[in-house]
Amino acid sequence: MYEDFLIDYLTKYNNLRNAFVEVNKNDRVRALMNITMPYNLSDEFYQKEGVYLKSLLAKKSIINVEDLEFKNNISFILGDITLIDSDAIVNACNSRLLGCLSPLHYCVDNAIHSFAGLEVRRDLLPIMEKQNGYEKNGKVKVTKGYNLPSKFIFHTVGPRVAGIVSEDDKIDLENSYLSCLKKACEMNLESITFPSISTGVFAYPILEASKLAVETVKKYLAETNSKLKVVFILHSEKDYNVYKELLES
Ligand code: ADP
Repeated sequence: MYEDFLIDYLTKYNNLRNAFVEVNKNDRVRALMNITMPYNLSDEFYQKEGVYLKSLLAKKSIINVEDLEFKNNISFILGDITLIDSDAIVNACNSRLLGCLSPLHYCVDNAIHSFAGLEVRRDLLPIMEKQNGYEKNGKVKVTKGYNLPSKFIFHTVGPRVAGIVSEDDKIDLENSYLSCLKKACEMNLESITFPSISTGVFAYPILEASKLAVETVKKYLAETNSKLKVVFILHSEKDYNVYKELLES
């Protein structure tokens, strides 16, 4: 629904002609969204984009946090972070913090922005302009979830590993998890879902990253006596098995 409107609107908005004609209509909308800087999109655009994204979501199965099994308030699942209904999901993004601009890229940042809607980038624009356009590693910025099942998106930049993992990389990764956990508690949220931060394009080895992620979350929950429910969502069977080994051993 509204694919044609969205394709025409964003093609004109970006001053293009026949852009991304080689892919199907849904991917065409997504690719055009990925390259769009939403300085002045119309209310009609956002309204129709919302109807369109909600119609895509209606065809998929939502992961309900209430249905998950938790041990010491931690759960881990194989799945897609854009489909879970936790209070907050965490986005592992780059230092521009405006979402992945590469059309149809497979990263988690691209998926979250594509299914949440261009409202997210629109809301991040003034935040990033205020701080010279770059975000340091290990911090957190919050936007609404818009067309996702989750209420909020926590945007954090994890470390980009060059070669072997440095002490600074470890501190930055720990800070990404900690900043998000603290923010969730500050906002009185009941649940937060993490992807495997930095272990994709940013090349942090999954074994080391997962140990640090799990230790950081366990320590934080124990020290603060928090009731926050934490979900780790893994996008590949391989990563899921790493978390299974860690959390069930
Ligand atoms: P980074 O730049 O922080 O490494 P990536 O997006 O490249 O971020 O990868 C981080 C992790 O997110 C990877 O393990 C990747 O498999 C995973 N991922 C990608 N898409 C999704 C998704 N839709 N849901 C959950 N995890 C995802």
